[in-house]
Amino acid sequence: MILETFPVGPLQCNCTILGDEEAGEAIVIDPGDEIGRIQRRLTELNLKLKQILVTHAHIDHVGGALKLKRLTGAPILLNENDLPLLKMMDMQAGWLGIAPPEVAPPDASLDEGLKVGLERYPAHVLHTPGHTQGSVCLHFAPLKMVIAGDTLFAGSIGRTDLPGGNGKQIIDSIQTRLMALPDETSVLPGHGPSTTIGDERQRNPFLRIR
Ligand SMILES: [Zn+2]
Repeated sequence: MILETFPVGPLQCNCTILGDEEAGEAIVIDPGDEIGRIQRRLTELNLKLKQILVTHAHIDHVGGALKLKRLTGAPILLNENDLPLLKMMDMQAGWLGIAPPEVAPPDASLDEGLKVGLERYPAHVLHTPGHTQGSVCLHFAPLKMVIAGDTLFAGSIGRTDLPGGNGKQIIDSIQTRLMALPDETSVLPGHGPSTTIGDERQRNPFLRIR
């Protein structure tokens, strides 16, 4: 198994490459920027890209998805509840003072329960609204790993003050969906260091206030 996570772009969004070297296949999660670097890595590893999975439609997570699709032919999957945010890409670029990237509607919606990923490394979609209405986490149960997007961070949670954000909803999503996972589940957040469900259950200050 190949699992590489590295921050991309000005907001340092964690982009993840998950690959199966035997099958020669990979998925990429949250290709927000630095698409040349991502594609170079896939080429070096001899992996054909099967899916582009986007945890939510904020510019730092979705900004490079269309470029990567054009280079590889892989479909883009994004929860349909974030389509309004995808249409606001000019405004999102304005928040950062950068040129808006070209975006297109996803090829499929990352709906609750959908099975995605690779044959040997499948994931199920957990719809976890709150940071945005279409925010999802990807639970790779056999790998004891969850890709959390901007829903849960080490010691923190995603902001809810942007359009589509809801503070009560994000806590509810984390408590009912993520905290239902086993303690040993590793968490790869959309920004910053990795953590585990058990560590966040014990130490995350945002999960104590209810
Ligand atoms: Zn975000």
